[in-house]
Amino acid sequence: MAAQSNGNPAECFIKIPNIKFTKLFINGQFVDSVSGKTFETVDPRTEEVITRIAEGGKEDVDLAVKAARDAFDNGPWPRLPGCERRRIMLKFADLIEENTEELAALDAIDGGKLFHFAKTRDIPSAADTFRYYAGAADKIHGETLKMSRELQAYTLREPIGVVGHITPWNFPAQMFSAKVGPSLAAGCTMVVKPAEQTCLSALFYAHLSKLAGIPDGVINVITGYGHTAGAAISSHMDIDKVSFTGSTAVGRLIMQAAATSNLKPVSLELGGKSPVLIFEDADVDKAVDLALLGTLFNKASEFFSFGLNHVYKKYFLAFWPNSKLQNFDILSGRTGSRVFVQEGIYEEFVKELAERVKSWVVGDPFDPDVRQGPQVDKKQYERILSYVEHGKREGATLLAGGKPCDRKGYYIEPTIFADVRDDMIIAKEEIFGPVMSVFRFKTMDEAIKRANATEYGLAAGIVTNDLNIANTVSRSIRAGIVWINCYFAFDRDCPYGGYKLSGFGRDLGMDALDKYLQVKAVATPIYNSPWL
Ligand code: NAD
Repeated sequence: MAAQSNGNPAECFIKIPNIKFTKLFINGQFVDSVSGKTFETVDPRTEEVITRIAEGGKEDVDLAVKAARDAFDNGPWPRLPGCERRRIMLKFADLIEENTEELAALDAIDGGKLFHFAKTRDIPSAADTFRYYAGAADKIHGETLKMSRELQAYTLREPIGVVGHITPWNFPAQMFSAKVGPSLAAGCTMVVKPAEQTCLSALFYAHLSKLAGIPDGVINVITGYGHTAGAAISSHMDIDKVSFTGSTAVGRLIMQAAATSNLKPVSLELGGKSPVLIFEDADVDKAVDLALLGTLFNKASEFFSFGLNHVYKKYFLAFWPNSKLQNFDILSGRTGSRVFVQEGIYEEFVKELAERVKSWVVGDPFDPDVRQGPQVDKKQYERILSYVEHGKREGATLLAGGKPCDRKGYYIEPTIFADVRDDMIIAKEEIFGPVMSVFRFKTMDEAIKRANATEYGLAAGIVTNDLNIANTVSRSIRAGIVWINCYFAFDRDCPYGGYKLSGFGRDLGMDALDKYLQVKAVATPIYNSPWL
């Protein structure tokens, strides 16, 4: 079983920040909701209420959209030269970086994020995402086209308008920056609705955006619930686009609302059940590392982490060479939920995996020795535990974990099931918790077929030294991103999104910028044209 830390964060770690922002951010001001309602946000470490936050509803969304519409139709932001938007976005990024510790602490108390990970990785990376898109702001241009019949045309790439961003709780910093960054660069204005579990840092970003000089009305943040505030955004007649990350079930509702309102385009980053395929030519030690790395960052679980400092030194730092992870030994992430291992190395792999789990420390996310914090809230905690019970009942071999930790807070032991069959519930449904399932396979064709036998298609991993296998499998897997002999190897310039029920549209990379632009063609006759 995993180790537990009993560290007291008040004694040995950092000062818990005072909560400064709890109101809606509309038109550059922090305001109460029209109804005056508020809701509790709970610290998953202690199950205690941190504070109450303004509960935005339809009327508040209307006000925020009005502000965003006015800022779009009449305000400076879409009309600024790109280099000016860039300058302001770079300032915003600097301010985020200057407030890294406070932002990281907010995500730790609000969502159970590992503080040191958020501080060294999540928040600096969010600042860099703003820098990345700042660099794009003055490079948005169309084409010149020679048409037939003595016409010429050019295209303009114009901001799409008022955008609604609806985000989940798992990576508050990444979600905010990956959505707000490209839409700001494109010249859009927006209404952001963060997950109700993790609103605190989004409100802090709103405050920083004002300090950076982003004009009033460009970024509005409405805190509140999905079925009220979220639904008001997706069905709003004056929102031109919705960018959503969250569950597939809610993604469907958003698309329906968009279809029955103003037919606004939507992009959906949805659930996943990503496979990692490990072939028997692979080095087992490395394969375990990569499966765990998949487990750290993939779709199915949150705040699941391992004592993998050496993995990060070896692989992870390669992708973030400038990050401050050199002294980094606290990790958080999510599981590569389906790990397929070829039969020749299966037994050895499973044995090594079970051994490695023992070094995980579950506990307070402020404790530097902790590898896994709490689940985000009671609902998620109970949901994960019910899946764990399914796994046990269906006869999978429980290799590690399988129960809640014996302490206050939403802590669950990291859980690994081996000998999982494809027809088990834990093999099919997204768990989004610290639960890994290991499967055995014989041939490559069989592995491809089984890996694809899911309604999701977010990501996949392949571990092999055989080029033929790597090429064949990567082209055969239906997923938005495939990592060969690496995992979670993406960065802000690498587009990320799903196939199948994992959604459509891409966050990150220049592809994300396209989501917030539309193309206008302008045609005009030239000399000797019959049109003249
Ligand atoms: P969720 O779908 O319950 O909620 C996501 C957001 O949608 C929240 O802000 C919520 O308030 C809002 N929402 C809920 N109901 C709504 C409605 N009827 N109309 C409009 N908005 C509504 O998801 P969650 O529990 O916050 O996050 C977990 C899910 O997110 C998992 O399924 C996970 O796979 C997915 N996710 C996907 C990605 C990706 O990149 N594809 C990344 C992170 C999380």
